[in-house]
Amino acid sequence: MAKLDPKIPAGPLQEKWVNHKFNMKLVNPANKRKYDIIIVGSGLAGASAAASLGELGYKVKVFTYNDSPRRAHSISAQGGINAAKNYQNDGDSIYRLFYDTIKGGDFRAREANVYRLAEVSNSIIDQCVAQGVPFAREYGGMLDNRSFGGAQVSRTFYARGQTGQQLLLGAYSSLMRQVHLGNVELFTRREMIDLVTIDGQAKGIVVRNMVDGAIEKYSAHAVVLATGGYANVFFLSTNAMNCNTTAIWRAHKKGAFFANPCFTQIHPTCLPIHGEGQSKLTLMSESLRNDGRIWVSKLKKDMREPNDIPEEERDYYLERKYPSFGNLSPRDISSRSAKEVVDEGRGAKGGDAVYLDFKDAINRLGKHVIEERYGNLFEIYETITGENPYNVPMKIYPAPHYTMGGLWVDYNLMSTIPGLFVLGEANFSDHGANRLGASALMQGLADGYFVAPYTIGDYLASAKPKKESLDHPAFDTVKKENEELIGKLLSIKGKQTVDDIHKKLGRIMWNKVGMGRNEKGLKEAIKEIADLRVEFWKDVNVVGTDKDINQCLERAGRLIDYLELGELMARDALERNESCGGHFREEYQTPEGEALRNDEEYAFVSAWEYKNLGSWELNKEPLIYENVQLATRSYK
Ligand SMILES: Cc1cc2nc3c(=O)[nH]c(=O)nc-3n(C[C@H](O)[C@H](O)[C@H](O)COP(=O)(O)OP(=O)(O)OC[C@H]3O[C@@H](n4cnc5c(N)ncnc54)[C@H](O)[C@@H]3O)c2cc1C
Repeated sequence: MAKLDPKIPAGPLQEKWVNHKFNMKLVNPANKRKYDIIIVGSGLAGASAAASLGELGYKVKVFTYNDSPRRAHSISAQGGINAAKNYQNDGDSIYRLFYDTIKGGDFRAREANVYRLAEVSNSIIDQCVAQGVPFAREYGGMLDNRSFGGAQVSRTFYARGQTGQQLLLGAYSSLMRQVHLGNVELFTRREMIDLVTIDGQAKGIVVRNMVDGAIEKYSAHAVVLATGGYANVFFLSTNAMNCNTTAIWRAHKKGAFFANPCFTQIHPTCLPIHGEGQSKLTLMSESLRNDGRIWVSKLKKDMREPNDIPEEERDYYLERKYPSFGNLSPRDISSRSAKEVVDEGRGAKGGDAVYLDFKDAINRLGKHVIEERYGNLFEIYETITGENPYNVPMKIYPAPHYTMGGLWVDYNLMSTIPGLFVLGEANFSDHGANRLGASALMQGLADGYFVAPYTIGDYLASAKPKKESLDHPAFDTVKKENEELIGKLLSIKGKQTVDDIHKKLGRIMWNKVGMGRNEKGLKEAIKEIADLRVEFWKDVNVVGTDKDINQCLERAGRLIDYLELGELMARDALERNESCGGHFREEYQTPEGEALRNDEEYAFVSAWEYKNLGSWELNKEPLIYENVQLATRSYK
């Protein structure tokens, strides 16, 4: 079993990051321009890292498959970003944000990382305000806050329902400033398809030019992956259609351990599935639960219109079960509760949905206030469903949304491959088994603006890595392997489309590795996914050529990786004989149906080491809690 060193600095929790920043080595300003850094991804994590490293003077190359950094999936984030400013004077503090995040993650995250996240959260808001991000303000001019799940304070900063977009425009402006200064070079429409390692160190990447199909190679002193999450393994998710796991998965196969792959978040407030042909699910931001009340009928198969169901026949089940947190209970708990009432046959009009109702809030605050707070979300809802949520309760249901798992990183955000750093949703750190709302944007920007610029500098100054020439045979070997892989895909000429097979994978994942998991289902899933992989390589039909734009080929390449990752997710879920956060093993629950953790045996991070196709070794990083007491999570 390989030894994992999380490199957590010594000393009291509150002083770890401060001391570590002082103890880390610095690169002399004049030497910074001698270092090349590759960053894959231009979402909030990648763009903020690139802008900061460029500003410091490093030579940065940024790669994205989008046609502009502004199109990264981060743009879709709606609800907000957390920070411990305590502007509301409602009892918030860095320690409380730290504690809520650790507890929200069901005590499966590293204390030191989470504390640092809470500590830098306030700097993020200052940085973004300085960039001109138009956060909502109160009448007095102070930044406004709203509440998100798993917290009893209001600490979420927001820009209407477009927080991700506004934050990304801020990061993008800083990034483009560096592009114009010549410190950052931007490579759009490039998909990273492999990592190049030499003597076990990350030395570069191989990408496919998505416009002319050329396979290109790039070399650097360090490589950063900020490539987002893998919820599209479920086929239907709230993620942008192009989000994929390829960059981190291929790095995993080159030696980067994959941590907690089964920790996925099923978001409670999404639009329900409405048909077989659907290829995307839409999120209705959690912010709506500030004012919306969630309910179902007390009766089974109640086919009445929601407005015809009288108050006394409604079950506001979250308020009933979790009176302290009510509609703002964390996502894992809210999603499971929705599934429970739907499984009982009490879903909206007997279907797979529950109601999210604004009647009381409109009566209390007036329609104009609700419109001001959530106008664009209500418009999205009406455009998609044809129903006006000001008059009729929304129908919502849980959907795959976020992945807490990702590449294992130490405290410096470096993976098990020296020189390979992983930021944002692509790494596993900080959220444990369940992420609290509005904490992903916080983590992506913390990693990019405030952590990686220090730790990458320390790596360069301490390890003094050499940049390899593109003529090194390792680059050509990786390039050739990928050209052969693409040739193989195009030659199969089977009968099923890429989406046909992806949908089959999605069904297995949703039914057996989704909101509820059990030993029998997981064993079946492992076998079914392995069989589906064989089916893919025999029967997929990838049309077009490799010499120009070919979305079919792009999707096929991504599906290869999902067909391997899906199996690892099921294996990880099978191995973890406990329930925690988003990982609910049906065999391990309290008499009230709550998640039953097993801290004695499972207070560790699972870090999987790739061996061969379908074969991994499990490494464990023990989670040591010195500041918080492991407790049963209660939101009652
Ligand atoms: C609908 C929705 C709403 C959300 N709302 C919120 C919210 O209100 N608050 C909150 O905190 N979180 C929210 N989240 C979560 C949050 O948006 C994401 O976790 C976060 O934006 C991820 O940022 P990132 O920089 O890590 O990755 P992304 O924004 O996904 O960026 C990934 C980047 O990597 C690039 N990339 C990926 N793979 C490759 C490759 N192989 N080659 C080249 N480039 C590649 C992409 O082009 C892109 O530039 C929401 C998520 C969704 C789906």
